Amino acid sequence: MSGSRSVKGHDSQDGEAALRADVISTALEMSRSELSRGRSGNVSCRFGAGMLITPSGLAYETLQPADIVFVAADGTLEEGAPKPSSEWRFHLAAYSARADARAVVHTHSLNATALACAGKPIPAFHYMVALAGGNDIPLVRYATFGTPELADFVKAGLKDRAACLMANHGQIATGASLDAALELAFEVETLAAQYIKVLSLGEPILLPDDEMALMVEKFRAYGANAQAAEAKRRS
Ligand SMILES: [Zn+2]
Repeated sequence: MSGSRSVKGHDSQDGEAALRADVISTALEMSRSELSRGRSGNVSCRFGAGMLITPSGLAYETLQPADIVFVAADGTLEEGAPKPSSEWRFHLAAYSARADARAVVHTHSLNATALACAGKPIPAFHYMVALAGGNDIPLVRYATFGTPELADFVKAGLKDRAACLMANHGQIATGASLDAALELAFEVETLAAQYIKVLSLGEPILLPDDEMALMVEKFRAYGANAQAAEAKRRS
């Protein structure tokens, strides 16, 4: 894991203005990278009893903190607020599925989307797959974007995983911070690219479930250590 990305993480203690700025910088980093060229992605973070999410139809380069939209847990908006991303329903569904998630990144990144369009989840072909929390990165069924049906599919896919592929659509990654969610989205895209290469060579050799369970534990410990180091650094 690189740990080199520049978007600054914040926790719930930080102010709303800082979180809004972080949502923008995460969206910018995503759209400038290979993850999601242009506007084909969206970013949110938990805030209060809801979330702050990128708006619909605005270029990320022009975003101001006031353009980031607060959506309450029941889907209601503040009066006069800009229109949230049309995919806000599955962002809320992700927070409802994962109590540990504080941020969500959704992209149509090339390789993850290619696998999702071929109907292929990512199996345990590499130990890094365990970063998503288990022995695969699952694929959830297709439904029209923006629908409650798609939100239900995403919610089920994220029940036991921090990321999943979305059939005929893209990928979604969650994390304990905006940095962590973006980092996981990069990892999912890298794994997807590697898996496609492996498939071109023949049948992948999969790691056994007990080895993947061990990797999940190792990554959990690694994450806890990294968090402790970060807390120490800030204190
Ligand atoms: Zn999408």
